[in-house]
Amino acid sequence: MDYDVMIIGGGISGLTLAVKLGQNNIKTLLVEKDKKSGLIYKGELLQPKSLEILDRINMLELVKENGFSLPSIQFYEYDQKADQTMTQLSANEFRYDLIDSPYNTSLMIPHEKLKELLFIEASKYESVDYIQPAKFTGFTDEEPQHKKAIIQTKEGERKIHASFYIGAEGRASPTRTAMEVDMKNTKYNHHFLTVSFPRPDSLNQSTIITTQNKFVGLFPLPNNEVRSVLLIKPGEFKTMREEGLESFYRAYCELMPELEGYVHQIDTWKKIQLMIPVRHNVSSYVKDNMILTGDAAHSVHPMAGEGMNLAIQDSDVLGELLCWMFKTNQTEWSQLEWYEKVRKPRAEYVSRLSHQAALLYSFPYRAWQKLRIKGVKQTEHSLSLHYKQMLNTSGLGIWKFNLVDRMKQAGLLPVKAGRVKISDKKKEKIMFSTYDDYPWYRK
Ligand SMILES: Cc1cc2nc3c(=O)[nH]c(=O)nc-3n(C[C@H](O)[C@H](O)[C@H](O)COP(=O)(O)OP(=O)(O)OC[C@H]3O[C@@H](n4cnc5c(N)ncnc54)[C@H](O)[C@@H]3O)c2cc1C
Repeated sequence: MDYDVMIIGGGISGLTLAVKLGQNNIKTLLVEKDKKSGLIYKGELLQPKSLEILDRINMLELVKENGFSLPSIQFYEYDQKADQTMTQLSANEFRYDLIDSPYNTSLMIPHEKLKELLFIEASKYESVDYIQPAKFTGFTDEEPQHKKAIIQTKEGERKIHASFYIGAEGRASPTRTAMEVDMKNTKYNHHFLTVSFPRPDSLNQSTIITTQNKFVGLFPLPNNEVRSVLLIKPGEFKTMREEGLESFYRAYCELMPELEGYVHQIDTWKKIQLMIPVRHNVSSYVKDNMILTGDAAHSVHPMAGEGMNLAIQDSDVLGELLCWMFKTNQTEWSQLEWYEKVRKPRAEYVSRLSHQAALLYSFPYRAWQKLRIKGVKQTEHSLSLHYKQMLNTSGLGIWKFNLVDRMKQAGLLPVKAGRVKISDKKKEKIMFSTYDDYPWYRK
């Protein structure tokens, strides 16, 4: 059987695309290599743009019922003395509700829950077939329009023909290899440990607590849980394991004593996952009828909580484009350029911002901490910097930081506190309209 679209990879990106194509009756095959999910912790924070997209596919209410809304991010900086006493140096808050949009909040939902909801929705549509486990290994050696995807299933090898092949396989993407695109990689000088555990009621906002050389991020989940990320040095996981779980509990409770008795409910290292941040961006998202989405195209440092959101946003734009191509009989491959035109600059900008945010927490020096405190404070105090920060993070638009902004954040120029009126004309320029998301409709 021939398909219009074959999606390789049943992660958030592949599933979001399957929902969009299913809702528009496009003949789609989705293949997923794993029998069941392996990693417990992946992206869980939905940014405002992802909420808007979930609304467009009529899934927002369901996602909200299973999620925990987080309208702000709190930042606390401490000075930790040699005797471990802590003195608070600063407390600041970044707020999503500055953005003029009905989706001006973030929302935490367990990654596997979101996948389950998307899978159930995609399965409702007869035009969507799903094979799991089925591992894609490469393409047959034929002319691009005739080539088939080779998959290994329980019943043996199968060859599948589709008009379009979507590489949604995450960081290690065989479709990307077949496309022979260039890829730029960035590594970081730190790793993270990540785990969810029960939380005190008082911990009900995204919270980042740092000292000169320590970092913990706490993101409340539904069911009184919290997802946490603890920054460690490469190799430190091994030493901590040798020391025992006490060293893990200590790392949290030193920074937030209220976690005493909560983090302790993690009773085995098996529940704690090592996360090695990497950043990559490919030179092109499209070649012939092969297209990359999500982590296959770009992996971002997790500091700004964007990875999963970029995956959803890619699939929204690509899904809308493919549906339009099939509906209007304009299935020539050159139309795919629209997808790259919209998504590549946006994803690259967010990737750069996430990288810069990561650098702010990468160096354990007193001067670096001072600079960070200054930057966060100035951003919070200036409405335009605050607005830019939240808009760029939200995915609802882009208002780029310029040199003057960076000088203000570094404390080299003063900031004006209070209300800055952002005109409707300006908002029109910086917020993405439907035509910005789907510019082919303008033709
Ligand atoms: C450990 C870890 C922690 C993370 N934490 C965060 C976070 O806190 N916040 C955040 O925003 N992002 C985080 N991310 C990133 C985020 O999870 C990803 O950006 C997002 O899941 C990307 O979705 P995706 O669908 O593109 O890829 P994936 O979620 O990786 O899905 C790819 C799917 O393709 C399947 N697949 C792979 N190869 C094949 C093949 N050959 N044939 C068939 N199927 C295949 C895989 O099994 C997988 O199911 C994290 C990632 C990791 C790995």
